[in-house]
Amino acid sequence: MKKFKSISSANRYLHKKKYSGATIGFVPTMGALHEGHLSLIRKSRRENSLTVVSIYVNPTQFSPGEDFRRYPRPIKKDNLLLQLENPDIIIYPSDKEMYPDGFQTSVEVKGLDKGLCGTSRPKHFQGVATVVTKLLNIVTPDRLYLGQKDAQQAVIIQQMIHDLNFPVQVKILPTIREADGLAMSSRNQYLTQTQRLEATELYRALTSAKKSIMSGERNRTNICKNIKKYIENRISGSIEYIACVDAQTLKPLPIIQGKALLALAVRFGNTRLIDNIIVLTE
Ligand code: AMP
Repeated sequence: MKKFKSISSANRYLHKKKYSGATIGFVPTMGALHEGHLSLIRKSRRENSLTVVSIYVNPTQFSPGEDFRRYPRPIKKDNLLLQLENPDIIIYPSDKEMYPDGFQTSVEVKGLDKGLCGTSRPKHFQGVATVVTKLLNIVTPDRLYLGQKDAQQAVIIQQMIHDLNFPVQVKILPTIREADGLAMSSRNQYLTQTQRLEATELYRALTSAKKSIMSGERNRTNICKNIKKYIENRISGSIEYIACVDAQTLKPLPIIQGKALLALAVRFGNTRLIDNIIVLTE
């Protein structure tokens, strides 16, 4: 496992490897690693001769007042987990190298970044698209591994890769959950014991909505209303959004059909959790 702090050294090393025939799988993360991240690393290791993991808490995807400063950075624990998974290369660049004085470029996917999480986090996806563009240029991967947990992020990155002709294949892997269904997230550790218990209701609300769709319900208003009622009756957090959209275009689906994405965001105090589920209908 080789570690790089310097972008240019990582880039030079990877170029050499690529030139000598290596296939590169890339897993970008913000650290505070859990099984969700590790599932991406394992898949990449199976499919590529070289796996690169980046750990970078990207400041530009946090709005003022969000949790950038308190975002968990358990460096020792991350290192231990990485030693077990044994990816080939870890890149953990500094803010100074990623955004040196004079930096003034940003990448914006206009459209898909509206709605869902984009409503309460208007600059978030611009920050994500910009940092992923930079990382793709640094790592030059053949395959990029992302989690379905961040569904809107995955769709936006796919669109950006298509629009900007990045020669990389995107792999979206399933959301890894705790035994009680809560989607794993670096932010779960912020939850109090009560909030943690309540948070399990989010996935239950989504699975119960999926069941109702499978039994024939197709009306979005009813589906979203039922999810809302289910959650409001069980948790003290506040609902930010509940959406039922086309899984590719992220446009609202008045009547459920094809590949639908049921997604939600809920705030428990300062902690914002997201989750989603895909429902396939005819
Ligand atoms: P993050 O460190 O939160 O920026 O996440 C890095 C990558 O891991 C993103 O592609 C996420 O979608 C993915 N990821 C985060 N949580 C999970 C999870 N519970 N299951 C699968 N992938 C995840």
